[in-house]
Amino acid sequence: IDEIEPLAFENERLLWTLPRRRVDDHKFSSGHCLVISGDALHTGAARLSALGAARIGAGLVTLGGARDALLVHAAHLTAIMLAECDRPDDLRPLLDRRKINAIVIGPAAGVSEDTRQLVLEALASEASIVLDADAISTFAQEPDALFAAIKARKNPNVVLTPHHGEFSRLFGEIAGCKLDRAQAAAKRSGAVVLYKGADTVIARPDGYVAINGSGSPNLATAGSGDVLAGMIGGLMAQGMNAFDGACAAAYIHGLAGRRYGKPGLIADDLPGILPDILFELS
Ligand code: AMP
Ligand code: MG
Repeated sequence: IDEIEPLAFENERLLWTLPRRRVDDHKFSSGHCLVISGDALHTGAARLSALGAARIGAGLVTLGGARDALLVHAAHLTAIMLAECDRPDDLRPLLDRRKINAIVIGPAAGVSEDTRQLVLEALASEASIVLDADAISTFAQEPDALFAAIKARKNPNVVLTPHHGEFSRLFGEIAGCKLDRAQAAAKRSGAVVLYKGADTVIARPDGYVAINGSGSPNLATAGSGDVLAGMIGGLMAQGMNAFDGACAAAYIHGLAGRRYGKPGLIADDLPGILPDILFELS
């Protein structure tokens, strides 16, 4: 970092950027977030994302996936909608039919050709996009193809949410401190990069960076990143831009980890804590 001073994310700014329901809002005006499911043996991660998106206030959340995976989801969920999306070709018609505002792809999606094509189809749409986990790892061998697709978009709101391993896989070893690395990655990819860890750093392609200070080691548990990815998708579905959505989600996710305040938190507990935190912030 040379010229730009890293800013800690400020609560006051957060309050101004969070979406607020108007008295005449309805579910269709409150944002629709699509989460792409993993296969029938790997559905939990996408379910956590879907619940994160719904609990942060998206009016509608749909899980898209193959029929056998949707049957597993159906056994666990009520307020989340399900839509068959078996192959990458199915994504476009689904986006049009359901008027999707934001898409989350990656949690337990599998590192595969299907995931690669789904990501590229999603990026070719007008929705805001969160790419997490396997959506990031899938492009380890051809990061520039991903970055070109991000930079070609009309809607610039794309968030990459790597933890350290995923970050290194996609961006290689970049010199400097975590702020330098996040900043370089955002510039190279054209996306907002939310570089996770105890010290989550959020960087914008133009070099602006924020550090989230609200985290808690209670969040060091399987699936907590999947909830975060869904929260970012849920906020962007409600109209937040990629950077504000990523910052707000990281901050609130951190507060949720603290609020639980005791060891033994599992990711399933996180979505249910969000309404109280949102109420207190409003
Ligand atoms: P993932 O590795 O994808 O499951 O994401 C883990 C989530 O938990 C990220 O949002 C991390 O920032 C957060 N997290 C993990 N460990 C800590 C920690 N020690 N302090 C604060 N946040 C953490
Ligand atoms: Mg993860």
